[in-house]
Amino acid sequence: MIRKTLLSALLVALVAPVVVAQQTRPIPYPVFNTPAVQRALDRGTRSPDGAPGPEYWTNTAEYVIDAVLSPTTNMLRGSETLTYHNNSPDTLRQLVVNLYQNLHSEGVVRTRPVQITGGVQLSRVSMNGKNLVEGRQQGFFFGPGPRPDLKLQYSIRGTKLLIDVPQGIPPGTQTKLGFSWNFEVPEVGAPRMGQDGEVYYLAYWYPQMAVYDDVDGWDNDAYQGNGEFYMGYADYDVSITVPEGWLIGATGELLNPNDVLTPTVQGRLATAARSEEVVRVVTENERQIGVSTVDSPSGTLTWKFKANNVRDFAFGTSDKYLWDATNATVGDLDGDGRNDASMIHAFYRPEAQSWDKAAEYSKFSIESLSRNIMPYPYPQMTAVQGIIGGGMEFPMITLIGGTRNEARLFGVTYHELGHMWFPMLVGQNEKAFTWMDEGLTSFNTAEGGTEFYSENRWPGEMRGYLRIVGSGFEEPSMRHADTYRNQFGRGTAAYAKPASVMHALRGMVGNELFYKALREYAHRWTNKHPLPWDLFNTFEDVLEMELDWFWTSWLFETWPLDQSVASVGTAPDGTIEVIIHDLGLTPMPAPVRVTYADGRTVDQVVPVDHWLDDNRVARMSFPAGTVSRVEIDADGYYPDANPANGIWTASDETTE
Ligand SMILES: [Zn+2]
Repeated sequence: MIRKTLLSALLVALVAPVVVAQQTRPIPYPVFNTPAVQRALDRGTRSPDGAPGPEYWTNTAEYVIDAVLSPTTNMLRGSETLTYHNNSPDTLRQLVVNLYQNLHSEGVVRTRPVQITGGVQLSRVSMNGKNLVEGRQQGFFFGPGPRPDLKLQYSIRGTKLLIDVPQGIPPGTQTKLGFSWNFEVPEVGAPRMGQDGEVYYLAYWYPQMAVYDDVDGWDNDAYQGNGEFYMGYADYDVSITVPEGWLIGATGELLNPNDVLTPTVQGRLATAARSEEVVRVVTENERQIGVSTVDSPSGTLTWKFKANNVRDFAFGTSDKYLWDATNATVGDLDGDGRNDASMIHAFYRPEAQSWDKAAEYSKFSIESLSRNIMPYPYPQMTAVQGIIGGGMEFPMITLIGGTRNEARLFGVTYHELGHMWFPMLVGQNEKAFTWMDEGLTSFNTAEGGTEFYSENRWPGEMRGYLRIVGSGFEEPSMRHADTYRNQFGRGTAAYAKPASVMHALRGMVGNELFYKALREYAHRWTNKHPLPWDLFNTFEDVLEMELDWFWTSWLFETWPLDQSVASVGTAPDGTIEVIIHDLGLTPMPAPVRVTYADGRTVDQVVPVDHWLDDNRVARMSFPAGTVSRVEIDADGYYPDANPANGIWTASDETTE
């Protein structure tokens, strides 16, 4: 609120161009619509104000999967029925299915080294009950019209399975695909999944429909390792068979607790559903067959999970896991005026540092994010420990590894659970626009840390961006995840920089208005697939501001911000003259605070239009008085590359 009044016309400084030799500056350009985005606007699937258009659609699917995991052989065997609904207005001549485990095949294009397991072995591919044969790849089809020259067959190209459908799949119809497959679960070091002999984390593990969307059609973008995913929304019925004594945490709700869990464990889960405290559901010496899981004559147990309207399904399993549970209050989901709740689960090995706090941190994160963005709509949230160095999100479940003190476990928990909003609820494309997922989530994480520790986390977050400025490694945020030259450039462009940029925007428009825009964006695009243009347009719609200069400067370019107080002096009429130099490349309004010796402060702003008019220097006039300090961005919202030159103090002057 305070920041917003700073921008109001009354307080805008009188800025007179100063006649000095000044270097011309790059003037930010408009955000252009790509031809594909423009076509979507013309067709009415998207709107110029950033909302989904009246003609918006998404294709959907239902998965029924039976999976058997054998820890003794490290093999996962699965069979799957996939019902795909073509809700688009297009006749589909091809179906595209992801076989992510082919990242581990020989000869596949990758952005990182991985273990070669041979990838996915398919023993059956069927369509509408008819088994398909594997043929030569017939190419990607973009044009309209039937292709009678093609055969109904499938082909595999890297991490994509393509089914050519000569007769086409008309709009409004459904298609049933069937798959039987197996693969060796890769060892630790596989991106975002794998096994270490004790913990198995299965993600990127089943044949999954690629997204067919209103802007780009099929997502033919191969999984190469860096870029994480882009998935559609689907319902899942998944049965997972593991040895008895093994616990499973997964996307969705457990449908058959009586078949797999002892009455004691079920009773503790029921207590956790009503408890504000963390309940120890399975403790260290209870990890035994017949104590935590029921006895099974076959030596295995089949756990059945159901999840609706989610982008993916993942699970973690181990016979070493402890199990904690509680529940989180998420706000009023169903509009009955009462708060709703969601279950919280944590699975971890006893030696995992700080993990007895994981359920508590998860509860805090879900409750905090439900307040900040919108209520968490899923029935549960699970954190499982192990395997990877960092954290990795899937719907309702996150994998978190590494050795972590409490602060680091809290930070990564809040971050991964933040991904339940971006990109799980708001179905962004993480591969093409990583910054949307990681930037918004890093923004939320800094907010969460500030709330949890009652300590401003933004200086640290902004340092995470600023350390790359001027290093030569920086690359723009608006870039596909698999096209960065180095991980430092990719990481900064995806995480700390866009988070800092959103913080700067909040500084410009005020906290209340910023959150209004962020929440509106989240509401508009829940269970849909927004692009950066939709985010930009929604923010401009809600804020009632033209911000193309902001988006292009910060996200399309690597232009740094560097505003400086060049001089402070007294004019002949006794008023205080402050000269601001804009030394950087990104233009931003310059909020200047003059503090007088008696403690009084006066705030004025150099409006961004002054810089957009190709100026480098602004002259500001403040009331007469003895000045003790002049500071740009005194409230600390802007990631300025050289904050020291944005502060002038009277003592500096006298000691020089
Ligand atoms: Zn993340």
